[in-house]
Amino acid sequence: MTGVTKFDAIVVGSGISGGWAAKELCERGLSTIVLEAGGPIDPAKDYVEHVQPYEMQFRGWPDRALLQRDYPIQRECYPCDELGHKFFVKDHENPYTNPADAPFKWFRGRHVGGRSIMWGRQVYRWSDLDFEANAKDGHGNDWPIRYADIAPWYSHVERFIGVSGAPEGLAQLPDGEFQPPMAMTAVERQGREKILTAFGGERVLTIGRVAILTKALPGRLPCHYCGPCEKGCVTHSYFNSIGSTLPAAQKTGKLTLRPNSVVAEVLYDAKRGRARGVRVIDGLTMQETEYEARVVFLCASAIESTRILLNSRSGRFPDGLGNSTGVLGRYVMDHHYGSGASGNMPGFTDRRTTGRRPNGIYIARFRNVKTQQPDFLRGYGMQGGSGRSGWGRGASMPGYGAEFKRTLIEEMGGWTLGASGWGETLPHEDNRVTLDPTVKDKWGIPAARIDVRWRENELAMDKDMMSACAEMLDAAGCTDVHTHGSNHPPGHCIHEMGGARMSRKPADGVLNEWNQAWDAKNLFVTDGACMASTACQNPSITYMAITARAAAHAVEEMNRGSL
Ligand SMILES: Cc1cc2nc3c(=O)[nH]c(=O)nc-3n(C[C@H](O)[C@H](O)[C@H](O)COP(=O)(O)OP(=O)(O)OC[C@H]3O[C@@H](n4cnc5c(N)ncnc54)[C@H](O)[C@@H]3O)c2cc1C
Ligand code: SF4
Repeated sequence: MTGVTKFDAIVVGSGISGGWAAKELCERGLSTIVLEAGGPIDPAKDYVEHVQPYEMQFRGWPDRALLQRDYPIQRECYPCDELGHKFFVKDHENPYTNPADAPFKWFRGRHVGGRSIMWGRQVYRWSDLDFEANAKDGHGNDWPIRYADIAPWYSHVERFIGVSGAPEGLAQLPDGEFQPPMAMTAVERQGREKILTAFGGERVLTIGRVAILTKALPGRLPCHYCGPCEKGCVTHSYFNSIGSTLPAAQKTGKLTLRPNSVVAEVLYDAKRGRARGVRVIDGLTMQETEYEARVVFLCASAIESTRILLNSRSGRFPDGLGNSTGVLGRYVMDHHYGSGASGNMPGFTDRRTTGRRPNGIYIARFRNVKTQQPDFLRGYGMQGGSGRSGWGRGASMPGYGAEFKRTLIEEMGGWTLGASGWGETLPHEDNRVTLDPTVKDKWGIPAARIDVRWRENELAMDKDMMSACAEMLDAAGCTDVHTHGSNHPPGHCIHEMGGARMSRKPADGVLNEWNQAWDAKNLFVTDGACMASTACQNPSITYMAITARAAAHAVEEMNRGSL
């Protein structure tokens, strides 16, 4: 063990939440160390969005032998391909277990920036429909915050990250501080108008709200529509922590970023009833170090932060720090997604798309907003888009030679329009994460054992996603409409949440309304672990807003001398 090093604040993880914690804490004057398990990323070398298929050995298709050997789980995540696999963990170094009858997919990256590099950038505010849902229907615990508590922080985050989108004035999907929206195609515009008319304005199709610039921000250029954002972005046009929050933290002179630092546990000072710091294992040398600070922010992602807490065992907390009421590790959730429909759109043969718009369309939640749907609680939003088939359609057509190729390029195929649902999942006590009694990761830390299952409500909602989407496409003017069901296991949506939920009372959760652990008030957990329900919106902007809010509160309390 090397000597102890002291800071004002420790942040564990440098992804979407950790980047925000670092920025806010540093800008408020705290000397802050960010401990990141993975290695550094150099955008100039590591970002590969402009590498063309003809420049790659396998033309962008994965090296199947390599992925089978090192990434047997991660390869199921769409960006984990020939170039993109470097942004994913090697599964044998980072194992987790699950019961045989409860499959779970856990897709992760371990590097500076975390999954902010590969994420899909869709960002939607929650509303009080979401924050009040648990209290109203009795599933899960009442959130200790409401929309009014977090709305200013959404604005704070949106102004900094840059969100393009169209205001719609919907109570269930509040508008944000938007940059100009990306354009919808002519097919999408027709779909929007016809669906609005057919469903009396209840179902609203809009352009996706996305953390991608359509106007420049300092040090970042507007998007040039090259397409494969999940491989990085040298112009920093989409938000990730490497291009935005970490540089802002760095600028203050208060940041120390330490890659290859695997946090094994939070250390507890029983005499003072506080978190003392963290124990770190060097990712490369395996050497152990302790870091101490006045506040500790866990931002390692929902399941990782839960695992760190479960592994933080002491005489006072033998089952893990934050677990004095037995709630730690419980109520783990994800979105269930992927069921929907698609169809052909006749006409529009004089229209084509230009560039690769890195965004789709969004249909705001309409179920259980004004009237109660009899088959399930809560609701779903839908994501999709339109497109026109190009030369690739020739792969399934008869023909050969120069003339055949010319017609494929000059005469495009028809238009399609489609969408799939992203559905809210109910919180269940026995959907949980524990520590596996035998399996350990490469650094000797017990692996997470994940037992999370879909229930009746999710399955009923999946069916409705298909039929409701098909009727909207019919109304939009599509022909040959066909539905698609999905049977993705939990985790596959990569929106894992819960495990250390916020609560109004210590008995009901792990964290209070400011994300402070009930068991140690200088310990904050601000990633997806803190979530008490999932809503149906993509969650990361809510983690960012909650993190910024918690960091501001921590510094206020420290300045007041009460932390
Ligand atoms: C392909 C893809 C598409 C997605 N699309 C969207 C989307 O459109 N909208 C949306 O809202 N969300 C999306 N997500 C999910 C989004 O990426 C996550 O919700 C978000 O990154 C979570 O933020 P986080 O800070 O909690 O975790 P991460 O961003 O994963 O960061 C966690 C960091 O902590 C580090 N870490 C982990 N354990 C330790 C440890 N023990 N010690 C030190 N460091 C540690 C990790 O290495 C990592 O860098 C997508 C994800 C993927 C992969
Ligand atoms: S499409 Fe836009 S945001 Fe995505 S990588 Fe290209 S420039 Fe960046």
